[in-house]
Formats: sequence, C-alpha cells, structure tokens
Amino acid sequence: MASEQQVRQYLAYWFQLGKRLMTHNGQQALKPASIIAGDRYSDEFEACWNLVRSPESGDCYIEGTTQTIQELLSSEWEISDCARCAMPVPTRSVGMPSYECPCSDLPGWPDTETPQPRSPVQTADSLQKICDRLSRSSR
Ligand SMILES: [Zn+2]
Repeated sequence: MASEQQVRQYLAYWFQLGKRLMTHNGQQALKPASIIAGDRYSDEFEACWNLVRSPESGDCYIEGTTQTIQELLSSEWEISDCARCAMPVPTRSVGMPSYECPCSDLPGWPDTETPQPRSPVQTADSLQKICDRLSRSSR
C-alpha cells in the first residue's frame, strides 16, 4: 500500500514532467502551474490534492496511466521506481506486476541533462547537490 506521502510525491513528480491529472473519470484535466513553494508543496498543488481526495471528483489519475489515485491508496497497489527512468510508478502489491510507466510516451525521456523532478525537501544533502551542480556547470 502506498502512503499518502508517496502518492503526493508521485503526483508532484509527474506534474513536473508535464503530465496532467485527469479528474471526474477522465472528463476534466488539470495541472497546477507551480508544484513546489520553497520547502513545501505549493498552495495550488495542495488545492489539487484536496480535489483528488474529494469524493465529488470521481476517478482521478495521471494522464497515461489507468490506476486511479484512490487505487494507489488501497492495499492492492504500491509505488516503486520505473526501471527505465526511476520515476515513481504504480505496481501491484499482489499477483502479476503491471508495468506501465507514464514515461513511455514522453519524447526524449529519460533525460539526464535536465533537472529531475524533486520533492520540497531542503536538506543539507540536497543543497550540497545543488552546489555541486552549480560548481560543475560554471567550469
Ligand atoms: Zn519510466
């Protein structure tokens, strides 16, 4: 079973790669313009999350996937890393693994040259990575 935290991260990561969230059983699509606000998720992302958790929104899922967010929060599903791109993808906890990563229709992905999607966690470690990247690119 995926934790709420994992599912939020899953959404945030795919939003950062330009995927939209389908709501109301696929009739509507939305994508927050900003995902991260400093060390937390943006208000826009939180509003989107509240919408996903509301029963009035029907089935909600990331464009290119068939697993609903509600399913991901059930005991049948887990979130693991895609073998191709290391993005979070839904996998079945029991039985045959269903392996479909939404990255399959992204042109030019995986792309190690662009900044990877991230979570709003500013640890000393991630700051160090940013410093490393900056010092590398200024060479
Ligand atoms: Zn992938």
